[in-house]
Amino acid sequence: MNHLFEIDPWKIATHQLERNQRRLQESLTSTGNGYMGMRGNFEEQYTGDHHQGTYLAGVWYPDKTRVGWWKNGYPDYFGKVINALNFIAMDILVNGEAVDLGVQEPKDFYLELDMQNGLLTRTFILENANTSVKFRFERFLSIVQQELAVIRVTAEVLKGNATIQVVSKIDGDVRNEDSNYDEMFWEAQQSGFEDTVGFLTTRTIPNPFGIEQFSVTAAMKHLTEAELGVSETESLKVQQVFQANLAEGETVSIEKQVIVLTSRDVLEAEQKVKAVQLLQENTKNFDELLKEQNEAWAKRWALADVVIEGDAAAQQGIRFNLFQLFTTYYGEDQRLNIGPKGFTGEKYGGATYWDTEAYAVPLYLALAKPEVTKNLLKYRYNQLEQAKHNARQQGLAGALYPMVTFTGIECHNEWEITFEEIHRNGAIAYAIYNYVNYTGDHEYLKNEGLQVLAEIARFWADRVHFSKRKQKYMIHGVTGPNEYENNVNNNWYTNTIAAWVLQYTLENYTKYQTETPVVISAEEQEKWQEIIENMYYPFDEELGVFVQHDTFFDKDLMPRTALSPKDLPLNQQWSWDRILRSCFIKQADVLQGIYFFSERYTREEKERNFLFYEPMTVHESSLSPSIHAVLAAELGMEEKAVEMYQRTARLDLDNYNNDTEDGLHITSMTGSWLAIVQGFAQMKTAKEQLSFAPFLPSAWTSYAFHVNYRDRLLYITVDQKNVRVQLVSGAELSLDLYGEKMVLEDELVIKMEKVDNDV
Ligand code: BGC
Repeated sequence: MNHLFEIDPWKIATHQLERNQRRLQESLTSTGNGYMGMRGNFEEQYTGDHHQGTYLAGVWYPDKTRVGWWKNGYPDYFGKVINALNFIAMDILVNGEAVDLGVQEPKDFYLELDMQNGLLTRTFILENANTSVKFRFERFLSIVQQELAVIRVTAEVLKGNATIQVVSKIDGDVRNEDSNYDEMFWEAQQSGFEDTVGFLTTRTIPNPFGIEQFSVTAAMKHLTEAELGVSETESLKVQQVFQANLAEGETVSIEKQVIVLTSRDVLEAEQKVKAVQLLQENTKNFDELLKEQNEAWAKRWALADVVIEGDAAAQQGIRFNLFQLFTTYYGEDQRLNIGPKGFTGEKYGGATYWDTEAYAVPLYLALAKPEVTKNLLKYRYNQLEQAKHNARQQGLAGALYPMVTFTGIECHNEWEITFEEIHRNGAIAYAIYNYVNYTGDHEYLKNEGLQVLAEIARFWADRVHFSKRKQKYMIHGVTGPNEYENNVNNNWYTNTIAAWVLQYTLENYTKYQTETPVVISAEEQEKWQEIIENMYYPFDEELGVFVQHDTFFDKDLMPRTALSPKDLPLNQQWSWDRILRSCFIKQADVLQGIYFFSERYTREEKERNFLFYEPMTVHESSLSPSIHAVLAAELGMEEKAVEMYQRTARLDLDNYNNDTEDGLHITSMTGSWLAIVQGFAQMKTAKEQLSFAPFLPSAWTSYAFHVNYRDRLLYITVDQKNVRVQLVSGAELSLDLYGEKMVLEDELVIKMEKVDNDV
């Protein structure tokens, strides 16, 4: 495997400027702080191929849906995370010549993202016959004050004399790469200077859908000994020029501090004053701010770090994933969610998908305070009315949570995704179950939880139909998690999760009937029970496996090894028609159900289904490998589990799916953690019982991780001999280790059990 960046436990670094891979490098050096983020763009002008992208959490635009033939039910618009003003811009001129690594050849190029503090550093030397200048760029987005970005540029003259000019800008003239009509989504409001602080306010253009227009103000101040030259404003730009005349051996540095405010928090009319005030109040310089940043990140790492010994690439992979996840979302703002591409790209962008409930919730439960996950659940609870609207749009009862959304209203315009991939409604319910099992928060279940569950259950009860021929309830016309098939009937996973929602809701309604605001009529209860008892689940007697959907076994079934390497990835090599007709599976589908409801199936059932479906799976969704890693680990298939771990942990770092240039796969970054904690360590929390049954991949020396569990902090270390569970804080706890009940008072050390590798 070719690594684009060097292997290092804490750094994403390279000594190569790869112009033909610039987009990929930009994605991999993205930074963020939950409030805003950006790709690893250069500060100075760069005329080579790249993607300039800055994104602000919760700031989006409804891009009008236009399709060939309109079908009733289409959402009016496609919600887009929008590229916002570029506030890192600092063009540089050396003796009047623009610095542009798109055309100039730098010496000693070095680019580094430090995952311990989110600092992005770049150094290089530019030489010509008379001069040689060394540049250093450093920047970070503060996690201490989220509105703050800090950039420092340093130029050191190594040879000759040089006049260095720095044109520091806030540039609002930006577009989305993925807009439907190459539209500009911003209009200028005001720009100018207050004393030496430059500011620019822009507002999203009006839209016909009643979606709020967002205003954004960025303001900048500079700390430098260079001389301030002209200050200029245009409607969408504000800039200041700094100049220094340097002799050999001299250095100049310019610090740029930027405050970004949006109308999500501050009214447009108050933004400029507030931004200028925040900049003026801050007396700290780059190094002092960086010190605070280091301390804040150290606290996050102390809780979340996973330490792997014996495999440096695996270590770098998990840290990269945790780092990027936390730069996207750390739970501070309950109006926000976790976008599949976070702040690193536009496709999928910062919209909310089922990825949050299915993939992110388990990680945030263990690595953050319970309130963070509760906020994620409440995000959906607060959108219950919108989810009911989505169901009504389809002529159905109850609530249909959206596949893609910013507000709760569905805003993706592809039919197969929006209206067929209804399985996501089940994941919203599953997250409630997961949360309650993990935290024991029955109050939430009785109140908000049951309200959401009851409406999702009503949706399913209306969406099923009764087949007289089979005397069974069925669900037709769906797309399962495997998006490489559309409009299938009786997707086993969808039918399974639908019936499970009905059952879980009924069980808890019966338990809490007198304590919940929810009312489910006797007639509804009876009907739901009938559906539960008579749901149709496609099953193949001969092979003893669940059938992905009614006609899956009529396909030309073959393993993915029958494909030639040039066919892969299928989504880039084959026509859509060919993909849909093939048996190849994009991501866990039947296996997603087995993963969710693990305790319902025997080991033999799990094994038969895994061995049947995994060989046909091409893992072209970044969400796929982790689920397979967890199941393979449970089944003792060490080699497969490790292969799937590597694929999920280094999916972006090694560009497995050949699409990382568009941005990182943020939501699937939970996968490496799931693979280690739920896979290798087999942590389970079903039935409100915490259990572990760890194994150690033979190439590793050890691994260790923390989990937060019911007011306790545990530290689990697995090495070649032992499993050690330490109670770092909190009261004693009963847990299950390799199937044996134990009480954890201080520390438990037991012998590591070897996996059985006979499958
Ligand atoms: C996957 C979906 C997922 C989406 C966003 C798609 O490629 O098939 O399951 O929700 O990406 O991550």
